Amino acid sequence: LNWHTTNFKTIIEEVFDLLKEKAKNKGIHLDLVIEGDTTLEGDATRLKQIAINLINNAIAYTPTGGHVTVFLKGRENRVELDVIDTGVGISESELPRIFERFYRVDRARSRNSGGTGLGLAIVKHLVEAHSGIISVTSQVGKGTTFSIEFHKERQQ
Ligand code: ATP
Ligand code: MG
Repeated sequence: LNWHTTNFKTIIEEVFDLLKEKAKNKGIHLDLVIEGDTTLEGDATRLKQIAINLINNAIAYTPTGGHVTVFLKGRENRVELDVIDTGVGISESELPRIFERFYRVDRARSRNSGGTGLGLAIVKHLVEAHSGIISVTSQVGKGTTFSIEFHKERQQ
């Protein structure tokens, strides 16, 4: 990784500019809430890739009329990013497998959306390269929340 001090707020705002048209075209409400100081040590290019993949998924797996909300919170020693959608959800049995390379829930349905099943494997790899943690909660037919948390300071 190319480590430097960067502001996650700037990164997320770039990602929003990149994806807002896509959300709008699909009729999805895309919202952003930012709290606190979100400056941290990390690789801005990779942090951007993480945010793009998670928000792209939230848009892809949420039907028209749904909501995608991104919360960015700067805390004392950590920065947290939550990507919350009101989409199709992921069943409890599928959840443990979604970070595997090439794994996609419901191949028949997702064939149309043209993905490869690599997005989340890359996200997990990049989060761990930053000594961060990623977690997911989901309810089928209700929606999904991906949360990632980073230390503000680079870990040894
Ligand atoms: P790509 O490589 O283009 O990202 P993909 O989106 O299918 O393809 P991943 O991003 O790795 O691959 O996601 C794996 C699978 O997890 C998806 O195919 C989808 O079934 C499920 N998934 C991921 N994010 C969500 C979400 N927000 N809501 C519901 N299902 C999701
Ligand atoms: Mg994806």
